[in-house]
Amino acid sequence: MYAQVILSISHTDIDRVFDYAIPEELLSRVKIGMRVRVPFGKGKSITEGYVVGVKDSTDVPLEKIKNIAYVPDGFPVFSETMLKLAMWMQERYFATLSKCLQTIIPSGIKDKTDYYKTVKYVRTGDNALECILKYENDKRRSKRSDVINLVLARGELPLAELKKINSEYTISVLRDEKALDVFDKKVLADTYTCSIIEETKPFEPNAEQKNILEEWKNEINDRSRPLLIHGITGSGKTEVYIRMIEQIIAEGKQAIVLVPEISLTPMMTGRFIKRFGNKAAVTHSRMNYRERFNCWKRAQDGDISVVIGPRSALFMPFDNLGVVIIDEEHEKSYVSETSPAYDAVETAEKLCILTGASLVMGTATPSVRTYYRCTLGDVRYTRLEKRAVEGSSKPEIEMVDMRDELRNGNRSIFSRKLYTALASNLQNKKQTMLFINRRGYSTFVSCRSCGYVMKCSHCDVSYKYHASNGKLICHYCGETVDKPDVCPACGSKYIRYFGTGTQKVEEEVRKCFPNARVLRMDMDTVSGKNGYADILNRFATGDADILVGTQMIAKGHDFKNVTLVGIMAADISLNTGEYNAAERTFQLITQVAGRAGRAEAEGKVIVQTYEPDNPAIIAAVKGDVDGFYRREIAFRKSMDYPPCEACAYIEITGIDEKNAIECAESAGYEFKKYEGMNVLGPVAEYISKIKDEYRYKIILRSKNDCILMEAVKEVYEKYRHDFENCGVYINPKAESVNMMQLVESDE
Ligand SMILES: [Zn+2]
Ligand SMILES: [Zn+2]
Ligand SMILES: [Zn+2]
Repeated sequence: MYAQVILSISHTDIDRVFDYAIPEELLSRVKIGMRVRVPFGKGKSITEGYVVGVKDSTDVPLEKIKNIAYVPDGFPVFSETMLKLAMWMQERYFATLSKCLQTIIPSGIKDKTDYYKTVKYVRTGDNALECILKYENDKRRSKRSDVINLVLARGELPLAELKKINSEYTISVLRDEKALDVFDKKVLADTYTCSIIEETKPFEPNAEQKNILEEWKNEINDRSRPLLIHGITGSGKTEVYIRMIEQIIAEGKQAIVLVPEISLTPMMTGRFIKRFGNKAAVTHSRMNYRERFNCWKRAQDGDISVVIGPRSALFMPFDNLGVVIIDEEHEKSYVSETSPAYDAVETAEKLCILTGASLVMGTATPSVRTYYRCTLGDVRYTRLEKRAVEGSSKPEIEMVDMRDELRNGNRSIFSRKLYTALASNLQNKKQTMLFINRRGYSTFVSCRSCGYVMKCSHCDVSYKYHASNGKLICHYCGETVDKPDVCPACGSKYIRYFGTGTQKVEEEVRKCFPNARVLRMDMDTVSGKNGYADILNRFATGDADILVGTQMIAKGHDFKNVTLVGIMAADISLNTGEYNAAERTFQLITQVAGRAGRAEAEGKVIVQTYEPDNPAIIAAVKGDVDGFYRREIAFRKSMDYPPCEACAYIEITGIDEKNAIECAESAGYEFKKYEGMNVLGPVAEYISKIKDEYRYKIILRSKNDCILMEAVKEVYEKYRHDFENCGVYINPKAESVNMMQLVESDE
């Protein structure tokens, strides 16, 4: 017998299946999905591989065929379904199968860690029955027969548990008499548990929620179309999810709930844990490998039926998946930044097609792509428009034109309206959130005399000033330098800090309101496993009056005492140079505004902007959701942008600028040969250098998705090798709403 093996080394040269002979003694253990160790290359080096097939014969000459060396695990690390998914990802995201498989198999399994620990267990011994009879009628020592009976009833239990209810002495006597037997048992080491900080009220669905659940239930045999729940913040989407999961569990199936990493707070996950108890488990990247592996293993062993986690939780090895729920489906973090650059929303849809599970997506601000697919009928559209907490109402949103403030001589980062509202909120002992989508102190540091801007030497970006340690930091590569005393260009002493970041806002708040208690939450203050939850906890329990933060604070946390939200600069996300900048801005403002007035108290939101005429900002302030999507889709159509038009981005990067541009040009030339292909570029990326790598992009558009995918694949496969030889990397990404039809995995 022969095994078809994919090697763990991810290199384009060896991204194919290798045949290995299965030695007699390993025959029963080598199956699809097993990890194996195999000899590879010259010498005696042993490499890890994954079995993707088993067959009777091979075309490889027998003298060349090598044996599988050994099999490290007693269980497969992926199923045949997951293998199909990996093959689909390989095609769709232009990655090696090896990388795709490594994305699917549990992280950390490569490390030689013992995921199991040895625990002392107790079971009944040979003389158990005799001893029961002996002690049953012994008035003084009848307790002993109770102990044996308990163990008998349980079969086996941890010794520590038994010791909690019985004396050491009793147990040791019974051991000596061979009534009890203590033995070592390997169990999965501790799994993650949540600390629950908020009680959830018993839930009775309102009319809107009932309708969605009915619709979803009625199509129980036809859940092939994804379902979108477009629900305003606070409309009780989570309760709908929970009801769906209850249904799925009743059908004997399992559920996966994807939540953006940043929203995986104890508050969020606690609601699931409370409802499903030890049937549910949480996984996230702040957990160690062992904890994450345990969650994965419990899913494989059928110990749990619900997993809540970030995008990687999609690959949980459930054997009868019933539903995948994606909360905040619009979130950028669902797209992986490393190869394979998979989009978890799209990949979830493929997984649901492969397994027959249902896909449910929820958000207050759908991605334009998903919304567009609803208009095409590819996705079922449902809506929740009522706030679920009785008495709570939509916050009042007000826009302030910061140019007017300047004209009126107000140079502060607070408009007069925000200042007044903040002051009265403090007086009324209510809490405030101030949002600025930029960490650090200032955006850029520049010389007042000659205009020189301090830039990172490795990236084409300006340094951000961090007041806490007096350093200039590049947010792309982490390069840190001391703040200069004089201008490096002209020697002038007049150095100015422009723009505003979280640290500056925090400092200004302290200056203006010296008695206010302020917390700041951004990448710089959140660290460690619980750093994030700690800050939120402190704010929730009233430890601070004001929380200043980046989009981390925009997520679904319910703070009952927050009645004011200030958006310091609504326009920051507008100027990123990307086609979806308006979409991001609309989503951010809407999400942040949703933080105000989550409970009985009335909420107020103040949006400060220098671009009060921007349609995305106006739509967000007015709550004109449908109008925004209608206009944005019309705009994308007119510009041939995704999702309306199939589009591909070819990113070409290299340390050597000349090589990079030459390779980019030859790729661009190659693309132009395809009929009906609209080729833009190569042009420098918006940030043209990161970590010493020069970055170029080619944008491809076509009315024909098939031709586009073909072209990208052909050019990529033809050139990636030659490019790599001159230190240039080509990284294609393709977008189309028809991806499910376009990319078929080999089945
Ligand atoms: Zn920073
Ligand atoms: Zn200067
Ligand atoms: Zn840098």
